[in-house]
Amino acid sequence: MQPTGSCFCGAVRYRLTAAPMFVHCCHCRDCQRQTGGAFAINALIETANIKILSGRPEIFTLKTDSGRPHDVYRCPACLSALWSDYGRRGVLSFLRVATLDDPGQFPPDVHIFTRSKLPWVPLPENARAFDIYYDMAKEWPAESLKRREALLGPGK
Ligand SMILES: [Zn+2]
Ligand SMILES: [Zn+2]
Repeated sequence: MQPTGSCFCGAVRYRLTAAPMFVHCCHCRDCQRQTGGAFAINALIETANIKILSGRPEIFTLKTDSGRPHDVYRCPACLSALWSDYGRRGVLSFLRVATLDDPGQFPPDVHIFTRSKLPWVPLPENARAFDIYYDMAKEWPAESLKRREALLGPGK
């Protein structure tokens, strides 16, 4: 069964036609402010593998420190954030895992930006956690690295 998900009101529904390549639990201040929560859970997946079943997400562009735009795809009715395109690459999306109908099926592979993790959020003992970011070549499974390279080209 392919995973499905939706915004809060249900106007936008989608199906994933592949499993995510990698899942981030991001504790950075931007994610905290944008969600109003302790962290954001983002599944990195080819945009082509997000099949929209109903509705049409609207793009809201946010500024980032890097200067590259961060496009957030939201339901136009309830404004739930469904996925993001960091840097407007068009082919790679950061899907908000908590919008899946079964969000427990893709636990985080890594915790990032734990330097700003809220002090009362404990991480599992075996969690791979990083103060800021991590080395993709070391942490990503080989098959996911291949998918990423097919998408963006080598070393991107
Ligand atoms: Zn909605
Ligand atoms: Zn973040």
